[in-house]
Amino acid sequence: MPIMKGGNMKEKLKYSVRLVERAFTECGISKENKAVLAFSGGIDSTCALHLPPILAGVKEGIVDLLFNDTLVEFPQTRKFVRHVEDTIGAAVIIAKPKVTFRQIVERYGFPIYPRGGKDSQRAKATAMCCYHLKKAPTKKLINEHSWRLYMTGLRADESYNRRTMAKVYGDYFLSKTYKHQRCHPILYWSLDDVWAFQKQCGFDYNELYDKVTYLNDGDVYFSHDNMKKYQVRTGCWCCPQGIRTGKLKWLREHFPKMFNALIVKMGLGEAILELRIDKNMNVKSKRAQLARDINYKKIFGVAKAVQTHPCYFDSF
Ligand code: SF4
Repeated sequence: MPIMKGGNMKEKLKYSVRLVERAFTECGISKENKAVLAFSGGIDSTCALHLPPILAGVKEGIVDLLFNDTLVEFPQTRKFVRHVEDTIGAAVIIAKPKVTFRQIVERYGFPIYPRGGKDSQRAKATAMCCYHLKKAPTKKLINEHSWRLYMTGLRADESYNRRTMAKVYGDYFLSKTYKHQRCHPILYWSLDDVWAFQKQCGFDYNELYDKVTYLNDGDVYFSHDNMKKYQVRTGCWCCPQGIRTGKLKWLREHFPKMFNALIVKMGLGEAILELRIDKNMNVKSKRAQLARDINYKKIFGVAKAVQTHPCYFDSF
């Protein structure tokens, strides 16, 4: 019986450990029949890695780590993956895409819209981007290695899609597509549980999590009591998916050169202006914003907008 949100952290840990042990036994995991953990360098898969049976399995050589390098990873993430490799002694298998983020943008546009969003044409860019940069390279390695058990650090409360997936499949099931067992040992953990486990074990984590941004600090009523803290989700540095939750403000504050490259040189600023113009075209209350967007797109340019009004692209 899965333990949902609000459950006791100790009980969740016990449940997850038992689940992994059961999966190892049922799948007959050994040096000849290995399991794999999809390891992104983010806190969730780092947490899954430190579940005692998985960590022991990695050290023993019966669990491989699979890192999908999208070619647009933060340098801090690559550094952390190497650190894990050195400290735990795990050989990390790296999956790489055949196409680049830029090529995908040229072909489908920026992946701004969420997958499954109402505008299917715009959502296609996101689906295609994730397919080419993540799914296809991983699928290729899964087919090459024939792992019996595929484990991840997925959590149900990360998104609507994951909650739905959790309801449909649960945390341990047979994948008919890949013909292996899938196990998401921390599927029912909250983010607080993950950080509590990190504190309890004291394991190292990706340094990107220590770079935070306060989303309401432009508000005159801002204080540290009412602050809303944004902590990045590691992964593709140039992904605009987090635009509505503060990703671009975070990027601008902590990685200004990357922010400029993305907004000005790679063209995300122009794409945002186009979408905003489209969205506000017939909205009376947005006239001032609409006029500014049109001017920046057609007369002054994105570089000027960023220079004169740095937070212009923080939200959408
Ligand atoms: S997370 Fe964003 S940038 Fe990365 S593959 Fe998916 S859509 Fe593309």
